[in-house]
Amino acid sequence: MADCIFCGIASGEIETRIIFENDDIVAFKDLNPQAPTHILIIPKKHLTSLSDAKAQDLELLGKLQLAAVEIANKFGLKDFRLVTNNGKGAGQSVGHLHFHLLAGRRMLWPPG
Ligand code: 5GP
Repeated sequence: MADCIFCGIASGEIETRIIFENDDIVAFKDLNPQAPTHILIIPKKHLTSLSDAKAQDLELLGKLQLAAVEIANKFGLKDFRLVTNNGKGAGQSVGHLHFHLLAGRRMLWPPG
């Protein structure tokens, strides 16, 4: 989608160090990390947020979670948090579905 930063990263138009990639997904480090490890995992397909997902995206949503596990294993992360902010009120600032994989510090609950 035009004017979408994460579509630009997924297509390679915006240069970013990709740390995981397959046919459907890319992952890269967050620009403004909130933990020692902070990785963004995104579908190449443009979905504005989780609310944009339909039944046809069921497999993709599963793949995104399995990608998180694969990345966590690759980096030796036993404990991690996987979270998506759905909508501005929940803290979403980029309108392309992404999961934050956070690790390397003690996580608080509930999140702020
Ligand atoms: P959100 O606030 O939408 O849940 O998360 C968006 C995340 O994307 C933020 O943590 C922000 O730091 C990160 N971000 C925004 N623009 C870029 C970018 O161009 N490159 C990278 N690597 N991260 C970005």
